[in-house]
Amino acid sequence: MKQIRAQIISSSEVIPGVYLLWAQAAEIAALSQPGQFVMVRCGEGYDLMLRRPLSIHGISQDGSKLALLFAVVGWGTRWLSQRRQGESIDLFGPLGRGFVIDPGSRNLLLLAGGIGIAPLIYLAERALAAGCSVRLALGAETASQIYPRYLLPEGVEPVIVTADGSVGERGLVTDLLPRFIDWADQIFACGPIPMYRTMAATELARPVQVLLEQVMGCGLGTCFGCRIETRQGMKFVCKDGPVFELRDVIWEEIKEPASREAVIL
Ligand SMILES: Cc1cc2nc3c(=O)[nH]c(=O)nc-3n(C[C@H](O)[C@H](O)[C@H](O)COP(=O)(O)OP(=O)(O)OC[C@H]3O[C@@H](n4cnc5c(N)ncnc54)[C@H](O)[C@@H]3O)c2cc1C
Repeated sequence: MKQIRAQIISSSEVIPGVYLLWAQAAEIAALSQPGQFVMVRCGEGYDLMLRRPLSIHGISQDGSKLALLFAVVGWGTRWLSQRRQGESIDLFGPLGRGFVIDPGSRNLLLLAGGIGIAPLIYLAERALAAGCSVRLALGAETASQIYPRYLLPEGVEPVIVTADGSVGERGLVTDLLPRFIDWADQIFACGPIPMYRTMAATELARPVQVLLEQVMGCGLGTCFGCRIETRQGMKFVCKDGPVFELRDVIWEEIKEPASREAVIL
């Protein structure tokens, strides 16, 4: 892993309240795998309180740039959203264990709940490059929150679901599981905890890798902020994850993310 100052190449609001930021970060990009994340220093001052975990959203074709897609939910992500082209940000990574595509898998189903699309685009790009077929189920509350089609990698087949039915089918992204379960060799998901709880309560005859977004302080397993209970005992989301097998996580014990101050202090 590397700690670098990365110059911002571009930053724009691609969905209301959601920013796509590209930064020059060849050293981290070269080492990264889909599902891994970087710790982004948001602001100046005490380090542990300032770094925010964000998934690697994509890598440019020449391998020199790294993309982040983030929702503004608190002061850290707001600070990041205010950074402009030409400014530099401090990145540390890549961190964690990412998604694993089994060598024998041909058909991959990706389920994205809201901002859960962030790590799945990079996974889709790698899967397509490896010759896999990718179906992407994109779920959001309403049409304006759906990840823009022009940003989807060529070759991805999106299926859109919105809670209010304003675009695509009406419902939840998990409603699509029965339709594609027989097609898929592997399933990958990223979204809110209730989405994972629904999936865990469903009999799925396929392995499912999920990316858990717990509040974390250090990203290295030293602050204990992101520990979770699994069927293999206590694990850290930052270094044992953030990707886990759905069935391994004890979902009754998982808490919704609270503010990081509540976890770390
Ligand atoms: C491995 C990992 C990868 C992540 N990747 C992305 C990503 O690619 N894009 C993205 O937008 N977010 C991602 N997150 C979530 C992101 O780290 C948080 O949204 C961010 O740290 C919030 O910081 P803040 O200072 O803006 O908000 P805070 O002031 O810390 O919190 C404000 C509110 O945001 C919510 N929140 C805080 N932390 C999280 C969290 N970890 N997950 C969900 N909600 C949270 C809580 O409701 C909290 O009350 C990821 C988290 C993890 C652990």
